[in-house]
Amino acid sequence: MKALKCRECGREYPLHATHVCEFDFGPLEVAYDYAKIKKSLTREVIQSRPKSMWRYRELLPVANDPTVGTQAGFTPLVKADRLAKQLGIRELYIKNDTVNYPTLSFKDRVVSVALSRAKELGFTTVACASTGNLANSVAAQAASAGLKCYVFIPSDLEQGKIINSLVYGAHVIGIKGHYDEVNRLCAEIAGKFGWAFVNVNMRPYYAEGSKSMAYEIIEQLGWRIPDHTIVPMASGSLLTKIQKGYQEFTKLGLVGESKYSIHGAQATGCSPISAAQKAGLDFFKPVKPDTIAKSLAIGTPADGFYALKVMKETAAHADDVTDDEIRDAIKRLAETEGIFAETAGGVTVGVAKKLIASGKIPKDSSAVICVTGNGLKTLEAMTGHVGKPREIKPSLREFEAMLAQEEKVNA
Ligand SMILES: *Cc1c(COP(=O)(O)O)cnc(C)c1O
Ligand SMILES: [Zn+2]
Repeated sequence: MKALKCRECGREYPLHATHVCEFDFGPLEVAYDYAKIKKSLTREVIQSRPKSMWRYRELLPVANDPTVGTQAGFTPLVKADRLAKQLGIRELYIKNDTVNYPTLSFKDRVVSVALSRAKELGFTTVACASTGNLANSVAAQAASAGLKCYVFIPSDLEQGKIINSLVYGAHVIGIKGHYDEVNRLCAEIAGKFGWAFVNVNMRPYYAEGSKSMAYEIIEQLGWRIPDHTIVPMASGSLLTKIQKGYQEFTKLGLVGESKYSIHGAQATGCSPISAAQKAGLDFFKPVKPDTIAKSLAIGTPADGFYALKVMKETAAHADDVTDDEIRDAIKRLAETEGIFAETAGGVTVGVAKKLIASGKIPKDSSAVICVTGNGLKTLEAMTGHVGKPREIKPSLREFEAMLAQEEKVNA
């Protein structure tokens, strides 16, 4: 990496823990020396390295070898033939971050980068504002790195996400308000305490971790960019970094030039970005979230403007799905592919279904759906919606009677 660079005016800044341009308040992004990287980073070099996101380390913002989260990433790309048949598309894959290491969500990627960089910069306390998964990953990876940790979450999160932060011994602070209020408070705290807030002052480094998902999709597809990628949007950051990842691999000659679309998915109960895209607007209107997809419930998305730009540039679409459609999609993915996703996964699969049905994603194309979190963390969403186990006495007669009765019902 070369410098931090303003996305608006292009001014460069030293590689410190800072995230906004002093002149126009534009967001800072990490810039790289691609000419130098091109000389050393080949397909062969990448393939010779361990199977983690760090096999692309020249394109990730650390000065030295990573020290935190060295096993994150390189999750399976599952060829989803049974789901493809149901949705009516030729070639479909699930990028399965429900099994990311160590905390079962895509956030393990961004946190590995943020904490490795925080250690390089000399921080001893790390923190974040989170809708749940980020808190889990910061808490776990701070514990294994021996860092002090504060995580700030809306107090009404799912049990699984709360316990998954507390168990690592992190200071967990539940804020009585929604994420946007948590985030605003964290911006104030970050300005006052000398901590590394992974998604505030460390945001330029943190966000780069998302690119690894794009690199892996290309490599696992046999060095090819899919025609369509469907991405869940909270702040919109992941979607923008999928484009950056595809662009970088193209620029470095690791993959051929091709045309692709990167579509965005939101929950109807918090859809500022998809609503703006559908209305043909360049700017979103902030909303108050009300959805079971709590991990995506950001009413004022920091990268919403840039996500809209990426969708426009790649001739892509956005859509959103209701709570019932989210549950249906979670069940469909589980029943066809054996993958239990959290509510965000239901959002992405549900939106993919809509985009294929409407022809916005043509039936004769290839598509990758990014499934970013694990269903075991949002059990509340499915409670009462998947039926109940049948209970019988430990007797063969009772079992046979039960089967006979079931056959009668099904007949
Ligand atoms: C954080 C998160 C995302 C994406 O968030 P962005 O802020 O848009 O980068 C997607 N899915 C899950 C499950 C998440 O926790
Ligand atoms: Zn600027």
